[in-house]
Amino acid sequence: MDLALTLLDANENPWGSVGSTENNQVLNRYPDPFQRTIKKKLSEVKGHPADGIFLGNGSDEIIDLLIRIFCEPREDEIITTAPTYGMYKVVAKINDVSNKEIPLTDDFQLKADQLLDAVSPQTKIVFLCSPNNPSGNLLEKSQIEILLNQFEGIVVIDEAYIDFANDPGFIKQCVTYPRLVVMQTFSKAWGLAGIRLGVAYTSPEIIYYLDRVKPPYNVNQLTQKQALAAIEDAHEIMMVVAKVKNGRELLTKELAALNCVEKVFPSDANFLLVRMKQALATFNYLIEKQIVVRDRSRVWLCEECLRITVGTEEENQRLLDCLKTMEL
Ligand SMILES: *Cc1c(COP(=O)(O)O)cnc(C)c1O
Repeated sequence: MDLALTLLDANENPWGSVGSTENNQVLNRYPDPFQRTIKKKLSEVKGHPADGIFLGNGSDEIIDLLIRIFCEPREDEIITTAPTYGMYKVVAKINDVSNKEIPLTDDFQLKADQLLDAVSPQTKIVFLCSPNNPSGNLLEKSQIEILLNQFEGIVVIDEAYIDFANDPGFIKQCVTYPRLVVMQTFSKAWGLAGIRLGVAYTSPEIIYYLDRVKPPYNVNQLTQKQALAAIEDAHEIMMVVAKVKNGRELLTKELAALNCVEKVFPSDANFLLVRMKQALATFNYLIEKQIVVRDRSRVWLCEECLRITVGTEEENQRLLDCLKTMEL
């Protein structure tokens, strides 16, 4: 904020903020609606031009904006995979846009040809999630590339968990494919789910529309400050990721050895999809033990499956101890 400016344009309170704010932060001014400082820093960290970066109130806001921009209610449709993250369907429904679901294979891979067969003139967006939630695996690059080359609409790749995968993801391909949108988030590896900040990496053409449809101050000042501080310390992510990978490896091995477990699916994320002998009974038993996991047993291809987040060493051990002594 340039102190030489006399700001009498926005009907703010010139005396400061009521109440004590943390570190006496001054919050009486509206935040930068285009979050220029964050985008500049992110651009350096990610190697993607700042004019191809969009920030939203969580990835969830970006999903909503994309559907509102590209889909006509009651006319157009989106395509998602089954299983996948639930928000695409929820947001499509809210906007009265239909959602075609294409089943993944038994090992949760995408068959691009099958998806392309389902495309109609009304298909405006394909949402892919890689690593996929709730299955945990990366989708095969070659299949995604077939889609990028052959589908004429918008391809969104949700990379909320990409930091936990040994893969650079698709940001670099935005140059080649201007209709590609890669979504990432501060909610997982960055450990900042509470500030609500999602990121889209795409072309300036798509940014143009996102900027025109978004609420002016969709990313608040506290969030912007916290995000900037985090980006300054971006190297810390490597340590978090190393810990998660250790925990994931240990849990994978130990869970697979348990009697109550049928199969642990390979994961490129910070959670494991685990097929139990009796998912619901195990879920309820764990709740009694004050351990909360996600029941995915009613989801397509996830019969008898629980989704378990990799926790701290202590949390993982507590889960394993409880499951070892479980009698169903
Ligand atoms: C957790 C998660 C997100 C994060 O959403 P935010 O709104 O940014 O918190 C996005 N996509 C997937 C698939 C997720 O699992």
